[in-house]
Amino acid sequence: MINRQVQLVRLPAPGNLSPADFKVAESPAAKPGNGEALLRTIYVSLDPYVRGWMGGIDNYVYPPAPGRTVIGRAVSEVVESADPRFKPGDFVFGETGWNTHPTVKAEAIEKIDASLGPISTAVGVLGSPGLTAWVGMLDIGKPAPGDTVVVSAAAGAVGSVAGQIARIRGARVVGIAGSPDKCDFVVKDLGFDACVNHRSASLGDDLAKVCPNGINAYFDNTGGATTRAVFPLLAKRARVVLCGLVAEYNDPNASGPSLKGILYKQASIQAFSVRDNLHRMPEFRREVSGWMKAGQMRFREDLAHGIENTLTAFQGLLEGRNFGKLLVQVGEDPTRR
Ligand code: NDP
Repeated sequence: MINRQVQLVRLPAPGNLSPADFKVAESPAAKPGNGEALLRTIYVSLDPYVRGWMGGIDNYVYPPAPGRTVIGRAVSEVVESADPRFKPGDFVFGETGWNTHPTVKAEAIEKIDASLGPISTAVGVLGSPGLTAWVGMLDIGKPAPGDTVVVSAAAGAVGSVAGQIARIRGARVVGIAGSPDKCDFVVKDLGFDACVNHRSASLGDDLAKVCPNGINAYFDNTGGATTRAVFPLLAKRARVVLCGLVAEYNDPNASGPSLKGILYKQASIQAFSVRDNLHRMPEFRREVSGWMKAGQMRFREDLAHGIENTLTAFQGLLEGRNFGKLLVQVGEDPTRR
């Protein structure tokens, strides 16, 4: 059995990623030692935080260095286990990287409860992106009836869940997304009240039209020009959930908004990290899978195929070419035959 891995050749320079910074390497899959399991990856999850790691940030797993396999979450099937907690055939997820047959420590993976939703959702709506939306929107955004809540990157993994939670809590929800198709999806499929395209030259005016009473909560996934258009429209004592800055990760020249809108409206900005909230996963999964079963929470996945296409798909994520939670399928999913 061969493990195909996407490895760093060198740390990419700021700005666009170059294919020359990466290579696909092959090595025999390693037999699991005590407390380890050999996995067959099914879905590699592509998430913006990986760009930070590539840029030199030692986020979570191991520091970036030439020869290292790119970090990332994945859904896998256990092939062989030398740990009593796992057996062949179990579906698991964890930070197992951009590779097809990794051997990992049992502590690095968790069993998937397939009764909650399709196994791919363990890295999407029922995984870290969903938890991020749930924590940020409920703890900081605090949506309530009568509020107007704006969500950027609204068609994406985090934004789509964040906006639907605000809708479920009775707020009026406005999305910001990067194409007419995405805006249609956000309104027609996800039930947002309106959506504006951040690529429009009149973004500020477009937003003002659909937020005539100002914005009471802003769930910020992007920073940059999108957030510059939002800040002047904040209502008094608005809550700004600083979730992510995807417009700025890949663009060293991007700059965020003036903070005057915050000052004049006595608004609060609060950043947060999903990592500090992982202990709330069971409560989150219960609530959100309940909404899914009741038809109140919908999700969309965008599937690329083949480990060799992971980098191109990831570049697309940073440029808005994904439409929904971006996954790369690298192995057969026996639950979706
Ligand atoms: P998405 O599925 O939302 O994909 C990223 C989307 O960002 C793209 O599809 C694109 O959508 C949008 N985008 C990209 N470039 C720009 C730009 N220049 N201006 C405006 N929008 C842009 O990714 P995720 O849902 O996984 O992540 C969303 C955010 O959440 C990220 O910033 C991420 O870092 C953050 N995050 C934060 C966490 C935390 O703990 N605080 C944890 C997890 C994620 P479009 O076509 O609509 O422009």
